[in-house]
This record gives sequence, structure tokens and C-alpha cells, in this order.
Amino acid sequence: MGRGRAPRDDVAEVLVTGQQLAEVVDRLARRLTADVGDKNPILIGVLTGAFVFMADLIRRLEFPLEADFICARSYGDGTAAGDLVIEMDVGRDIAGRHVVIVDDILDSGQTLGELVRILQERSPASVRTCCLLDKPQARTVEFEADYVGIQIPDRFVVGYGLDLGYHYRNLPFVGVLRPEVYRPAQD
Ligand code: 5GP
Ligand code: MG
Repeated sequence: MGRGRAPRDDVAEVLVTGQQLAEVVDRLARRLTADVGDKNPILIGVLTGAFVFMADLIRRLEFPLEADFICARSYGDGTAAGDLVIEMDVGRDIAGRHVVIVDDILDSGQTLGELVRILQERSPASVRTCCLLDKPQARTVEFEADYVGIQIPDRFVVGYGLDLGYHYRNLPFVGVLRPEVYRPAQD
């Protein structure tokens, strides 16, 4: 991304508008309220991509909850489980607690699947997963989230927290970059 150029100038196509995102977050908030509104849950946002979604989501939830974050990174090629590294852990014991993992996008399914497995080992009362975006065609492992915001095609997207090289997280919508921005070296 060039210095001084607006991030949105690098976007070829908007897949989910800001208005649609707000509606999706509202719908997810209603479902979470019905399911965990009386459980004083711990919502765990998966850094870094989920921070914008998490911020909007928790402000739609009008019940007692604890908000925390975890930073997990997959170092594998996305085809095998077990290579997830927790780079920053949650700050509290989750034993006996109701946990909702909040993530930006479900792609291969590897990160969220592995994260659920790791958190399950800590004896929580329950673990639910809430994902804003879902690319069902990209799955390499068997995993589905309990709450899915919106399904999108198997394309690389940015915006609303999702980045390319740390850029574009500030776009207020979800979009696809122009090919020359996405793959500058090859073209
Ligand atoms: P997984 O393949 O394990 O389901 O997804 C792991 C992570 O890869 C996601 O949480 C997200 O941070 C990142 N990711 C997957 N697809 C995309 C995408 O289209 N755009 C961006 N910016 N990140 C993605
Ligand atoms: Mg992520």
C-alpha cells in the first residue's frame, strides 16, 4: 500500500458492507444473549483479526460478561492439526466457566478447531465458537462454528480487523484487494 493512498483505493470489490456487518453483529448478539445471557460467560477474542468484531459485538451484549483475548498463530501449512502456538494466553482460569471464542474468519478451520481443543483441556463448563465470516469451501479439517455471521466465497479478504501485512484492518467493510496489490511480486 502506497504512502498517502487511501486503503479503500486498493479494494477491488466490497463483499460485506458496513451496514451488513452491523446487521450481522446484531443477529449474533441476539443469539448469544439467548444462549449465554444468564451464564456470565468469558468472551475470548482471537487476536489480532477479531479485535474490531469483538469490540462491536460486546457493545451489543447487555448482560454481565468478561472480555479477554488470546493470541494464537498457526505455523503449519494449514493442512495438519497440532501446530498452533499460543503467543499470548487469556489472563484467567476458565475452569467451570462458559467460554465463547470470538474469531474473525473460519477458513481451513484449523485455528479454531485447535483452539477449542486446547481450551477444552482446561475444564470449562462449555466452549462455544462465534465467527464473523465463514469460507465453507476452504475447510481442510472438519470443523463448524456454533455461530456464524456470514458466509463468503473462498477469497482472501481484508477490512473490519482483517489485514494484509498489518494494513487494511481499518476499512469499515470487508472487501477483496485489487490483484496487483495482493500479489505485487508475481505480477
Ligand atoms: P484457519 O485457516 O485456521 O481457519 O484461519 C486462520 C486465520 O487465518 C484466521 O483467523 C484469519 O486470521 C486468517 N485468515 C483466513 N482467511 C483469511 C482471509 O481471507 N483474509 C485475512 N486477512 N485473513 C484470513
Ligand atoms: Mg484469526
